[in-house]
Amino acid sequence: MKELSKRAEKIKESSTLAITAKAKALKAAGENLVAFTAGEPDFDTPEYIKEAAFKAAKDGFTKYTVTPGILELRTAICEKLKNDNELLYDPSQIVVSNGAKHALSNVFTAIINDGDEVIFPAPYWLTYPELAELTGGVSKIVMTDKSTGYKPTADQIKAAVTGKTKAILINSPNNPTGAVFSKSELEAIARIAVENDLYIISDEIYEMLTYNDETPHISIASLGKEVYERTIVVNGYSKSYSMTGWRVGYTASNKQIAAVIGNIQGHQTSNINTLTQKAALAAENGNKKFIADIRREFKKRRDLMLGLLQDIPELDALHPDGAFYIFVDFSALCGKSVFGRTINNASDFAEIILDKYKVALVPCADFGFKNHIRLSYAVSESDIQEGMGRIKAFVNVIC
Ligand code: PMP
Repeated sequence: MKELSKRAEKIKESSTLAITAKAKALKAAGENLVAFTAGEPDFDTPEYIKEAAFKAAKDGFTKYTVTPGILELRTAICEKLKNDNELLYDPSQIVVSNGAKHALSNVFTAIINDGDEVIFPAPYWLTYPELAELTGGVSKIVMTDKSTGYKPTADQIKAAVTGKTKAILINSPNNPTGAVFSKSELEAIARIAVENDLYIISDEIYEMLTYNDETPHISIASLGKEVYERTIVVNGYSKSYSMTGWRVGYTASNKQIAAVIGNIQGHQTSNINTLTQKAALAAENGNKKFIADIRREFKKRRDLMLGLLQDIPELDALHPDGAFYIFVDFSALCGKSVFGRTINNASDFAEIILDKYKVALVPCADFGFKNHIRLSYAVSESDIQEGMGRIKAFVNVIC
């Protein structure tokens, strides 16, 4: 048979989805597993949001809408962006998509020509390079380290810019590090983007989950007119409202890009599910107590997990200010042996601990760091206690 698309064949399976599926299957099979793999809040979607979807179905709101989403929702998103992020948009600048993932896919399709480079500071969410390369782009990875909180310096970014650079992607709060970029760090990136005529893709999906008053979330698009014009803000409802399964996200951009994204989506998927649009509208218009509650809860769990990590000196964790992940360097254990196997990289670490201690975690090679793992604290405190105890027991037997 003839070959498949070369670009498509280069796409790897998502290792986070694969390990999450494996953890779910083991749990369903009755294994006493602790999973630190979750990429989603473990809370139910608030009732008032579900009610809005029920009502929409009962009212017969079940037909196509305009591709970028109903005007009411896009207007509410503009209000949100004004109130929370000091960003002024018109509804024509908003396209509502099937999750932030779909929004990102639209963005790369909208801006990339063959051979265009996109700068991804590492660690990066593993989906970004795949999406960029699927559209003919080239990933330019900028490595960081713990000395800067795994955030890129201006010099590192400048060194990565070439004549082919089209865009830089910023993800703050960050997956997998939980790092939140400060205003001055964002200003430095904005300056480079303006000087070199680059687009900025700003993935702000974890914006509501920050735990430190000194490092609030700031949208890079709010740092001036020039940077606003060239930034495409990506956001959504998955993390803030615990709506991962509903699939709703959006882009906010200049009108030209929004129109192109709308055209792409118009042919590929059309409008997102109509019931979800009403649910997202209810989320936007409802009271924000839910967000305050989950933020408080996540902060408590983060502190618990960090405290337990401190008891394991072989593991070097970054103190995260946002999201619900802890990024852990286990280089001190690399090359060592346990149960007749050698730990050479994150997959070895993840496989052995899953096998022997029934703890599932995310190896970060696909995030650009092969000696790091990601622990999600979107789980109960008792799971954190139990799982960290198992991790400690595992580390203690490694020699
Ligand atoms: N961006 C980042 C950084 C994420 O971690 C995720 C979800 N894992 C997404 C985007 C996608 O979110 P959504 O569910 O809205 O597609």
